[in-house]
Amino acid sequence: MPMKRRRHFWGDPDRGPAARRPLGPGPLQVLRRANRSMELGQHSQAAILFERIAYGARDLGMTRRAPPLFFQGARAHLLAGNSEAGAEMLWQGLKLLANEERWDQLERAGARIVDELERIGEAALAEEVSEWVEKALAEQGFARREIEPAGQKEIIRGRLPINCGNCGVVLRLDEVEWIDSSSAVCTYCGSIIRTDT
Ligand SMILES: [Zn+2]
Repeated sequence: MPMKRRRHFWGDPDRGPAARRPLGPGPLQVLRRANRSMELGQHSQAAILFERIAYGARDLGMTRRAPPLFFQGARAHLLAGNSEAGAEMLWQGLKLLANEERWDQLERAGARIVDELERIGEAALAEEVSEWVEKALAEQGFARREIEPAGQKEIIRGRLPINCGNCGVVLRLDEVEWIDSSSAVCTYCGSIIRTDT
């Protein structure tokens, strides 16, 4: 059954004010604890905290913040050995990206997730995710052509600090949204990060 395309009278939901809003002080505090737990290797604890803020962000329509929080929660669950809970969060994040029609993000996140799943020995789940993402993208042939080829947006970017100064997450180059060469948005908490150039 073809997915019914959603219509939003205010335009692209991704650009709505709620979507890009930074996390409020309550969830931010939880996120800081989650990131800290993750760094300390307390994966079960981190998973519970990520789960709380991921579902919270989703329910508040914060569609930019929620998927990375789901993915980080999935990572925590899987590292803690909770395969089923990890898979559930993974699907929540992936389906949210598809519902929001963020195909470029889905492609990038999908590739990274499949890679990571293979590395931690979750081959069956990796295969399942890979097939699902491929199918979702194939069904959107028109959208896929709009995806910028890798490298097209290459600009000289400054160096990111190791952690986000606001939420403490370890920053990864492919997980921030660049504004210009010297500033990026933390995908987890929504704060602006300046590079050291
Ligand atoms: Zn942050």
